[in-house]
Amino acid sequence: MSEWNKLIPKPSSSFVRVKCPKCGNEQLIFSNAVNKVTCNVCSVVLAEPTGGKARIKGDVQAVLE
Ligand SMILES: [Zn+2]
Repeated sequence: MSEWNKLIPKPSSSFVRVKCPKCGNEQLIFSNAVNKVTCNVCSVVLAEPTGGKARIKGDVQAVLE
């Protein structure tokens, strides 16, 4: 758990739970993702990096601070 906390660089970062628009799979995406995030099931792009906050392509279900 302490190792996990070290991965979060600042309090403003968060995870969002996104529902895939294609297959309906839900997965957690880091809001400041620096790499393209794809659906674990169908590989559709769910988030793209923009240099700051990731642009979320899917349907945001929840934001987890
Ligand atoms: Zn999918």
